[in-house]
Amino acid sequence: MTVRTRFAPSPTGYLHVGGARTALFSWAFARHHGGTFVLRIEDTDLERSTPEAVQAILDGMSWLGLAHDEGPFYQMQRMERYRAVLAEMLAQGTAYHCYSSPEEVEAMRERQRAAGEKPRYDGTWRPETGKTLPAIPVDRKPVIRFKNPLDGDVTWHDVVKGQITINNRELDDLVIARPDGTPTYNFCVAVDDWDMQITHVIRGDDHVNNTPRQINILNALGATLPQYGHVPMILGTDGQKLSKRRDAVSVMDYSDKGYLPEAMLNYLARLGWSHGDDEIFSMEQMCSWFDLTHLSGAAAQFNPEKLAWINNHYIKAADNQRLADLVQPAMLKDGAIFDGAPVLPAVIALLKERANTTVELAQSAMLFYRQPAPDSTLLQQHLTDAIRPALTQYIELCRTVDWNKAAISAALKQVLAEHGLKMPQLAMPLRLLLTGQLQTPSIDAVIELFGRDVVLARLTYTAD
Ligand code: GLU
Repeated sequence: MTVRTRFAPSPTGYLHVGGARTALFSWAFARHHGGTFVLRIEDTDLERSTPEAVQAILDGMSWLGLAHDEGPFYQMQRMERYRAVLAEMLAQGTAYHCYSSPEEVEAMRERQRAAGEKPRYDGTWRPETGKTLPAIPVDRKPVIRFKNPLDGDVTWHDVVKGQITINNRELDDLVIARPDGTPTYNFCVAVDDWDMQITHVIRGDDHVNNTPRQINILNALGATLPQYGHVPMILGTDGQKLSKRRDAVSVMDYSDKGYLPEAMLNYLARLGWSHGDDEIFSMEQMCSWFDLTHLSGAAAQFNPEKLAWINNHYIKAADNQRLADLVQPAMLKDGAIFDGAPVLPAVIALLKERANTTVELAQSAMLFYRQPAPDSTLLQQHLTDAIRPALTQYIELCRTVDWNKAAISAALKQVLAEHGLKMPQLAMPLRLLLTGQLQTPSIDAVIELFGRDVVLARLTYTAD
């Protein structure tokens, strides 16, 4: 059997992190088995499925690097196929026209509720041998209902949740086409999974209730059933379901907040799946390890600190030029002046150790790209008369010293020794004069990066 998995998002305007995680699992499972990963866009909700909303899904997937092997297939482009299957089912008697009006259906539900029964379609139009159906009302367009088995159970072995059994009496004769002929959700999913020969359906457990309905439809179509795995929801830090209002739920929000796609993937992989105690791993490793037996049945909780830690790991590992390209647009927006300033990849190399996001990296890099405006009170406090002679001597040494960190640092130490000062006494005024800030990476590294001309200009200008 060749493994075929799919990700089947309904466009909502963004790629949800929960969706991205099931996409990742489906993708990794297909990759692990040398199988095929299908992307299917479930765009039948015309109000929500705008071109922008569809594009947002594609953008999220491509940012993460979850490449599909087939598709994207669009349900709206498959309407003819659905109609053909509906016609076949009507002909075979696995579906039937139902002329009950919405008011009649509502009234039957009311009666059932009043009698303490579970509201369901009462089968008025369900054909049975020997049964005479009512006369077809004029001018009424029928819906098509699926002829759900009346007895017996639907049972499947869920690869995450174990065996699940639903009695057919719990299931209604589902409407599979509306009066205008358009097919409904569960029907389209079943036909698609059948046509696309999906072998493993990995999706969120908000779909567990749909599965017995889809299995019955697939059985009626004579389809081979896929295996199902329903992954628990991702919870927010408060233990509640992730909420659009409270949490960042869109994958691209994380891109905007300065997370790297490889960090996001690594983090999402661990939300509900494990490989021993491994926390940091590449997607190659994940694909070689990924199996369905290590999917967890317990809901995973989103942990922003852990995501930040993983992101920091990948920032440290990332190529400096790539990081520079990522942070430069934000820095330009922030008024960065790159002319005559240190080259950005070198600055990144110095700063990335401490950055949890590329947004933080951009902010800290600004140190080198704006005109310093030291606060005069701070200057008075740190650049005292006792320090000035040391500064003057340091400026002199800077004119001739070899421009590398070791020599710059040796010159600093020489001045400190000759004037009987401690490092912070000189480093603080230097930081202020060079950057306008008291907090910077190590002062010798900062001095080296600025270069001799900038250092002399900034120190001599203010030292007078
Ligand atoms: N379109 C559904 C959703 O976005 C997923 C359907 C499925 O995976 O079967 O929730």
